[in-house]
Amino acid sequence: MRLPIVKYGDPILRAQGKLIEFVDEPIRALAADMLETMHAANGVGLAAQQVGTALQLTVLDVSQVEDRPSTLKLNGVEVDPVEAMPLVLLNPRIRLDEELASGNEGCLSFPDITAEIDRAIIVEAEADTLEGETIRIEAGGLLARALQHEVDHLHGILFIDRMSSVTKASLSSRLKRLQRETLRGRGDSASKR
Ligand SMILES: [Zn+2]
Repeated sequence: MRLPIVKYGDPILRAQGKLIEFVDEPIRALAADMLETMHAANGVGLAAQQVGTALQLTVLDVSQVEDRPSTLKLNGVEVDPVEAMPLVLLNPRIRLDEELASGNEGCLSFPDITAEIDRAIIVEAEADTLEGETIRIEAGGLLARALQHEVDHLHGILFIDRMSSVTKASLSSRLKRLQRETLRGRGDSASKR
């Protein structure tokens, strides 16, 4: 089932995700719905906060992006990142390489807004899977960027927090407008209930 994507201005985007201690049917269903929602929106990643649930759960799929390559090692073995997609990660813990690169980034919670963001070029992560395993990931390229963006979401951090102050200032009126529209939309749906 496709879920509505929460937009900037909704306080859930600032919530710290709760650890998932065991995988039950509602978690599996949420992950499946998040994959469907991300694919329908042509996104490369989606965090649980973006569908209104503050949990340590994110889905990623960079396989449709041809002009920005990714690299991936799974449990120390180099794999084809396209074959390995999509990824469903629970409770991801990441370690960032010190070397940064600037790259263009968008977010499904910020329609039509993109910006250059500095991110680590390589990230290592450990995460739990729906099957109850723990996997080790080393990601580069677009996947590294997407993973950092999504793990930020799981801790209530948004890409606007990573923008330079100049970039953020240049977007300020658009951000305020989006925030207002989101709050108005929330008011409408609350009064319909
Ligand atoms: Zn995002």
